[in-house]
Amino acid sequence: MSTVPVVRVALPTPLKRLFDYRADPAGGCAIEPGMRVRVPFGRQRLIGVAIELAAGSELPEERLKPVLQRLDLQPIFDPATLTLLAWAADYYHHPIGEVLATALPKALRLGAAVDAAEARWVVTPQGREAYARGEPRRAPRQGQLLAALAARDPGAADPNPSDPGLSVADLDARFQPWRDAARALVARGWVNVIEVRPAAAPAPAPDSAGPSQGPEPNDEQRVAIERVCESLDAFGGFVLHGVTGSGKTEVYLRVVERALRLGRSALVLVPEIGLTPQLVGRFRQRFAVPMAVLHSALTDNERLLAWREAFSGRARIVLGTRSAVFAPARNLGVIIVDEEHDTSFKQHEGGFRYSARDLAVVRAQRAGVPVVLGSATPGLETLQNVATGRYTRLLLTRRAARAVPPRLSLIDLRSSAIHAGISTPAVRAIERHLEAGGQVLVFLNRRGYAPTLLCTACGWIAPCRDCDARLTVHLAARRLRCHHCGADTALPERCPQCGFAVKAVGQGTERIEEALATLFPGIPCIRLDRDVVRRRGDMEDAMRRMATGEARILVGTQMVTKGHDFPNVTLVVVLNADQGFFSSDFRAPERLAQTIVQVAGRAGRGERAGEVLIQTEFPDHPLLRSLLAEGYDGFARAALTERSQTSWPPFSRLAALRGSAKTAEAALEFLAEARRVADDLRGGRAQGAWAQRVRLLGPAPAAMAKRAGRHHAQLLVESAERASLHRFLGLWLPALEALPSGRRVRWALDVDPIETF
Ligand code: ADP
Ligand code: ZN
Ligand code: ZN
Repeated sequence: MSTVPVVRVALPTPLKRLFDYRADPAGGCAIEPGMRVRVPFGRQRLIGVAIELAAGSELPEERLKPVLQRLDLQPIFDPATLTLLAWAADYYHHPIGEVLATALPKALRLGAAVDAAEARWVVTPQGREAYARGEPRRAPRQGQLLAALAARDPGAADPNPSDPGLSVADLDARFQPWRDAARALVARGWVNVIEVRPAAAPAPAPDSAGPSQGPEPNDEQRVAIERVCESLDAFGGFVLHGVTGSGKTEVYLRVVERALRLGRSALVLVPEIGLTPQLVGRFRQRFAVPMAVLHSALTDNERLLAWREAFSGRARIVLGTRSAVFAPARNLGVIIVDEEHDTSFKQHEGGFRYSARDLAVVRAQRAGVPVVLGSATPGLETLQNVATGRYTRLLLTRRAARAVPPRLSLIDLRSSAIHAGISTPAVRAIERHLEAGGQVLVFLNRRGYAPTLLCTACGWIAPCRDCDARLTVHLAARRLRCHHCGADTALPERCPQCGFAVKAVGQGTERIEEALATLFPGIPCIRLDRDVVRRRGDMEDAMRRMATGEARILVGTQMVTKGHDFPNVTLVVVLNADQGFFSSDFRAPERLAQTIVQVAGRAGRGERAGEVLIQTEFPDHPLLRSLLAEGYDGFARAALTERSQTSWPPFSRLAALRGSAKTAEAALEFLAEARRVADDLRGGRAQGAWAQRVRLLGPAPAAMAKRAGRHHAQLLVESAERASLHRFLGLWLPALEALPSGRRVRWALDVDPIETF
C-alpha cells in the first residue's frame, strides 16, 4: 500500500487489469485520463492509455515505477469514449489493453502524433516529366490525378508553398474513387505524400451544413426527424423501422444536418463501405463539411489520417464500419447505425468479440446523445427492446418516392419444371419483365459454378481435405475451391477414384449467369459476388451499369441485397429460400427472413410496381407463410413467440465458449473440463441462488466441426438474467485460464454470440 498519486494504465497485454505507475513524469506535465503514456513493463517499454488517476496504490511505493513519457498534449479519448472502452472490456470479459487495440489505429498504438500534420499529395520532378511525356497512357484515373497535381504545382516555384498539393478533402471532392490511383502513382515515384501543418481546425460554423437540398420529408419522415431532434441533448434509443425505399437515409441526412447546425458532429456506422457506396455518396453530396471515412480496406496510414481528421474536429461527420464505433468525434451530437440487423456489426472472430451496434447504444448513453438504429428488418433483439419500452420505434410504412411495395409470391419447386435452378414460372416472369422494359435481379446465396463435383459412376464427391465440406466448382477458373478454408486445387477432368467423367451438381451464381445467357441470348447480364468484386471500384462499376440500363439482369449473392437503389428493377427472383429453415442455429430463420425482405426491397423502387418470386421446396413452412401473409412484422411476432417458448435470446442471455484444436478430442475435453469447473462453481455453497439460474448447454461439436484442419466445439452458457450470467462469467473465466487442458486448445468467449452452430 502506498499513498503516492498514481495513474492506472491500460497496456497491450492479455492481462485483464490496469497497471499502476507513479503519476509524476520527469517533465512535470500532468497526466489526464485518455492520454497515451510510455511506461516500463518488465524489460520492455510499452505505450498504453491512462484510464484513471488514483490517490494511492495496492503496491508499495518502492515498486511503483514512474511514467517515462506522456505522448499527448490532450486526451485522445473523451471521458464518454473512455468509459465505453472500460465498459466493453468488462462486458465482453476481455483485456482492456486489447480493447484499445481495436479502438486505436495501429500507428497511434505505436506512438504516432495525433495532431500532426495533414497529408498532401504532391507531384515529384519525375512525375512532372512523366506528365509532360503524356503518361500514364493506359490508366485514365491516374492520368486525371497526375494532371490535377501537376497543374496545382506547375514548377519549382510553387505558387502556394504553405499550401502545397492536394489534401484528402480536395481529392475526395474532385475524384471518387482515387486511393488506388494515388497509390499506383506513389509506387511509380511520380507522386509523394508529404505532411504539412494545417491551420487550426476551423471553428464549426453554424451554417456549414449548407442549405438543405433533397426532397421535402413526408409526414412519417417528419415525425421521425422531429422525435430524434427533440432529444438531441439527451440519450434516446430510436429504432427507425422503415420498409425498403421508405426514405430512411433521408431521415438520417436531416437529423445529421440538424446536429451539424448546432455545431455538433455525427457518427454514422454502416455494415460494409464497399457494399454501400451509395450511402457514402449521398452523405458527401448533401454536406459540404469534411467527412472522415473509416473502413477495413484502408492502409494503416490512411486509417491514421482519417482518425486525425475526426479527432481534430475538421471532419464533422465520421462514417465507418464496425470499429468506427470507437472513433473520435468532437462534440458528438448523434449516432446512426444503418442496417442495424447486419451481422457484420458483430465481430465474431479473433480476440475481442464485440457488437458495434450494441456499443453504439452504450456510447450514446455515455455521451448523452440520441442513437438511431435503422433497418427495414430490425433484429428480433431490437424489436424486443421496443416492446419493453427501452427503445422508441419510428415507423416509415410507405415507400417515399411514390413507389408501391412489391408483390411477393412463392413458386413451389416440387411441382415446377426447373432448368439449371430456374423454374419455368420464373423464366416466364423474367421474360415478361424484360419485355416491359424492366430490369431483373436474381438472388442466390452461393457463389461459384456448382456446390458439388460428383462422379456418377462411383459416387465420389470432391471433399475438402481440411473441412467437413465439399469443394465448390469454379468452372471459368477451372478450379475447385473450399469456401471455408480457401483450399484451391485444379478441377479434375476425371474421377480420381475410378477414372469416370465427373459432373458439377447444383447451382452457384456462375452457373445461373450461364443459364440466363442461354435462356435470354443477347440480354446483357452481370454478376455480383466475391469472385467478381475483388477491388474497390468493381462494385461501383456494376452499380453504374445497372443504373444506366446497360445491364438488364443482375445475378448475385448477399452482396446485391444491401441498400442499392435501382429504380428500374421490377422483378426479383429468390432462387432458393430454403437454406435458412433447417439450420441448427436458432437465428437462421431470422437471417433468412431478413435476406428475403431486403432483396425483395430491391424491386419496384421506381414508378413501376415490383414483383418478387421466391422459389422453395417448403411452401408451407409456417415462418415463410407468416412472412408472406403479414410481412416482416408478422414474421417477427411469430419468431419472437417461438423464441420465448424456447427461452432463446432476447428472452435469455447467452455466452458461447468456443474451442478449437488439432483433434476433436482435445477441443471437447477442454470444454468438458470447463463444464465441470462451471458445475462446481454453480454448486458451491458459497454461491447464492443466482448461480442456479445459469444453465450450461453442451459441449457439442460445431455443425461443421472440422474447418481449416481444426476441430471446433462450443459450450453455451445461458441465463434469464444478464447480471447472473456476467457474475458467473467473472468467476468462471479466471478458473478456465488456469486449466492445463486449455493450453492445447485455442479458446475464446463470445458474449451475445450471433452464431450458435
Ligand atoms: P431507404 O434508405 O429507406 O431504403 P432511401 O432513403 O434510399 O430509402 O429512399 C428511397 C428513394 O426515395 C430515394 O431515391 C430517395 O431520394 C427518395 N425519397 C426519400 N424521401 C423522399 C421524399 N420525402 N419525397 C420524395 N422522394 C423521397
Ligand atoms: Zn468415380
Ligand atoms: Zn476447406
